[in-house]
Amino acid sequence: MNLENQTCVVTGSSRGIGRGIATDLGEHGANVVVNYRSSEAEAAAVVEEIRESGGDAIAAQADVAKADEVQAMCDEVNDEFGNVDVLVNNAGITIDKKFDKMTREDWDTVMNVNLGGVFNCTDVFYDDLKRADHGRLINISSVVGQQGNIGQANYATTKSGLFGFTRTLALELAHTGATANCVAPGFVETDMLEEVPERVQEKILRQIPLDRFATVEDIAGIVRFVASEESSYMTGQVLGVNGGMEW
Ligand code: NAP
Repeated sequence: MNLENQTCVVTGSSRGIGRGIATDLGEHGANVVVNYRSSEAEAAAVVEEIRESGGDAIAAQADVAKADEVQAMCDEVNDEFGNVDVLVNNAGITIDKKFDKMTREDWDTVMNVNLGGVFNCTDVFYDDLKRADHGRLINISSVVGQQGNIGQANYATTKSGLFGFTRTLALELAHTGATANCVAPGFVETDMLEEVPERVQEKILRQIPLDRFATVEDIAGIVRFVASEESSYMTGQVLGVNGGMEW
């Protein structure tokens, strides 16, 4: 699964799963765009790590919820690397509250990043993906979009929303040879999981047949496969990477 000469944009890749995806793609020869919102030093460290492993990378600041910042990032990326081959819509946030405590602002903030950000980024790179030899749109969803989860009505809605979006884009892109797929991780050891209270983490762990949380590497390897030429005949799919959880 060689990604040499492939330019890959990974949104929200200064930390967590995005960071794991970006470094893995870079190690396999890709030119990687390390997008971040505010973690500038962390993004610079990811760029450094990729360059040391033999790949090329740039850091690109943009809040994915802001269309003007995403357009500026797109211009910068096209100037630096030309056409984009792979877009990984990974950036995502949570604001967890049971529904009776959730405000309209909590709802809108999560929608604007997790779905609005996917719209903005796909919008600016769409023509690139159509022009690429084998364009790849990869949306990072979640098992929570499949199961629902107490305290995550806003987040779960955004993650389910990606299924309809991905399936539709798969159909609309099919004539170009580009594919669109979702990777739906289970629970992964990142800052996002750290925010979940320990007693809830223990409860979740009991539902995972493989009896451990995922590492970012578990997710990155699957994303690399989806990004590669080897996955050319797979489109419109949801790949569950969740240790065998039921949904
Ligand atoms: P994380 O550790 O909290 O990292 C989030 C990343 O997204 C950071 O790099 C952050 O950059 C960036 N980000 C947040 N808001 C952004 C915005 N508006 N614009 C641009 N970048 C933004 O999260 P994670 O756990 O790695 O999750 C990554 C993705 O996987 C999310 O879509 C999440 O829903 C999904 N996921 C996570 C899990 C899990 O258990 N962790 C499970 C299933 C799915 P800054 O630091 O610069 O803000």
